[in-house]
Amino acid sequence: MAEDYYSLLGVAKGASADEIKKAYRKMAIKYHPDHNPGDKNAEEKFKQINEAYAVLSDDKKRQIYDQVGHEAFTQRGGAAGGGPGAGGFGGFGGFGDGIDLEDLFGGIFGGGGGRRGRSANRQRKGQDLLYRLEISFEDAMFGADKEITIPRSATCSKCGGNGCAPGTSRKTCARCHGTGQIQVGQGFFNMIQTCPVCGGAGSTIEKPCPTCHGQGEVEERKKLSLHIPSGIDSEQRVRLSGEGEPGSNGGPNGDLFVEVSVRPSPIFERDGANLRCTVPIPITTAILGGSVIVPTLSGPKELAIPRGTQTGTQFRMRDMGVPMERRGRGDLYVRVTVETPTNLNADQKAAIERLRQSESEANYPNARAFRDKAGNYMK
Ligand SMILES: [Zn+2]
Ligand SMILES: [Zn+2]
Repeated sequence: MAEDYYSLLGVAKGASADEIKKAYRKMAIKYHPDHNPGDKNAEEKFKQINEAYAVLSDDKKRQIYDQVGHEAFTQRGGAAGGGPGAGGFGGFGGFGDGIDLEDLFGGIFGGGGGRRGRSANRQRKGQDLLYRLEISFEDAMFGADKEITIPRSATCSKCGGNGCAPGTSRKTCARCHGTGQIQVGQGFFNMIQTCPVCGGAGSTIEKPCPTCHGQGEVEERKKLSLHIPSGIDSEQRVRLSGEGEPGSNGGPNGDLFVEVSVRPSPIFERDGANLRCTVPIPITTAILGGSVIVPTLSGPKELAIPRGTQTGTQFRMRDMGVPMERRGRGDLYVRVTVETPTNLNADQKAAIERLRQSESEANYPNARAFRDKAGNYMK
């Protein structure tokens, strides 16, 4: 639109509200579709002067319009899909200034028609999807490449997403004539509401696509490959960009988030990047020292046990924890429990009995420290 709003209405830049209103009424009658049946130019002109009046009759919008100029104003409105330019129609729906004109034209103005039509066609990003996946402890530790099959909706390939049977197209809604809105009520208090026939889209499907029944989308099961990074933990998510629901009106697809739930390990407990494991050791190893074989993610490893190790002592095995992808490796903490032997034979019992005969308080410093602390309770 090359012309600015003032010249469209044939008024000067400094025109008063009254002058604008008068000029608009004259033009509106002249170009009204009822008086120019089938004249496309008149129809276009009628739309333009309505748009011009919607802006110039609103003090706030007129001020912005004067400040930024025609070009910037209309661009702004169009881009935002609801900015001052596009929103201009909204004020013209049978309230305030519009009332006398409503009566004049018998309520034919589809207030906001243009705007509705545009916003109904606005691009929208598709829905994100969440998919829950149970994985083994090993897959969480080492990472894995998996194939998953997810049900999701996809743009119907038969109709390209418009929901129309091949060879047919959407037609202008018969109820609202493409504006997406209808007026209900009479006289002063006309109400504008979304057209119930087309749901505000301004058009309806003439013959629905046989594949998607007019939905424009079909359910499909899609196979996707998924990389699970090593070190992933329960409730963490892997994002597959663009694998969610399809966008509407050419908008981008949503994303697919795969949330993992890691099956617990029978021996390892996870603590961030570290692993914990409790290993029983024979009482003789605890007394005399030695070594014990402990399980690690890299296979069995020998852990040295110093002489006199108490139950509950924790040993750290460096870099034997969770291999975090791109973030190095945690440690493995081994807690030992001293196991009391059972099912001793006569010889073994005799050997332990000899130990008992020879032992003294000095062999059990913890017991002595405890007795000291207990004080009167032990006397
Ligand atoms: Zn409609
Ligand atoms: Zn279809």
